[in-house]
Amino acid sequence: MQIGGVQKTSLLDFPDKISAIVFTQGCNFRCGYCHNPELIVLRNEPAWTTAGFFEFLETRKGKLDGVVITGGEPCLQNDLIDFVKDVKSMGFLVKLDTNGTFPDKLQKSLPYIDYIAMDIKAPLNKYSEITRVNVNCENIQKSIDIIMNCGIDYEFRTTVLKSQLTFGDFEKIGELVKGAKKYYLQKFVASKTLDENFMNEKTYSNKEFEKILSLLNLYINNVILRM
Ligand code: SF4
Repeated sequence: MQIGGVQKTSLLDFPDKISAIVFTQGCNFRCGYCHNPELIVLRNEPAWTTAGFFEFLETRKGKLDGVVITGGEPCLQNDLIDFVKDVKSMGFLVKLDTNGTFPDKLQKSLPYIDYIAMDIKAPLNKYSEITRVNVNCENIQKSIDIIMNCGIDYEFRTTVLKSQLTFGDFEKIGELVKGAKKYYLQKFVASKTLDENFMNEKTYSNKEFEKILSLLNLYINNVILRM
């Protein structure tokens, strides 16, 4: 695994669990608002070796419930499946974050995953615009179908920038993930971005979010605004 960083403890990233977070290096998207720009391009030297991470994990047995694997895009890692197997075999739960572009790898990892979080970047017709790469949207659709039918706990989530997603786009997203168990809207907050022009971007007002929530509630019962 190309590990770009480790957060040793988190109370927020794995619902109802105390976890450690592994940040993998490399992403196939180039979202302008990305707040982990240092993880997007592969560096020559990973920040942590895989062996070093497992040594650390050994010391956290009985203290942590699980491990969150995020990125970057974890499914780009050649040895992801072996990695999640090894984490599970140590008795930890595993949460996988993904952008949904690798449905085959997602499918293969399912036996070792306890929670999946998939980004929904936009309605399918705007995926390439928002991610700034050519996206095979059949793969996005496949990943959504896999997640909604696999029986594992999951969430979909969207980072919301006012300039990128219109009210009409949220209706299309609602159709795309109709019947989803949980869908989070994440307010964009400018702190660090891949494209520095995005530091001036804004999210919607609370009143506008109320309208977005009511549009999405036509398709999804459990829509949550994440601050
Ligand atoms: S925000 Fe976009 S570019 Fe950044 S890690 Fe996530 S999918 Fe990749």
